Amino acid sequence: MKKNIPPFRMVLEPMTEEAKKITPFKWASKEIGKRHLLGGSPDFIQEDKWPTCSECHEKMTFYAQLDSINDEFCIADCGMIYVFVCLECNEVASFIQSN
Ligand SMILES: [Zn+2]
Repeated sequence: MKKNIPPFRMVLEPMTEEAKKITPFKWASKEIGKRHLLGGSPDFIQEDKWPTCSECHEKMTFYAQLDSINDEFCIADCGMIYVFVCLECNEVASFIQSN
């Protein structure tokens, strides 16, 4: 049975001087780089894609979306990584979508 995790916005907190020096995107729209999310509903960039568990064949729980960081650490074209989990079987699925 798929469980839904309530939504948490994830705000990045730099942990080192090197991380503090990371510059934001120069040209991307301003929400890009701030779309990190734990739980809730995925904000798909392309078509909706909801994986099913390879063990139990149930729809997986959306766990997180991880945004691109900046021009240096950019996932595809300002894309995000989507992570799904089956909390019964401990199976994980992830993929990238981008503009
Ligand atoms: Zn499963």
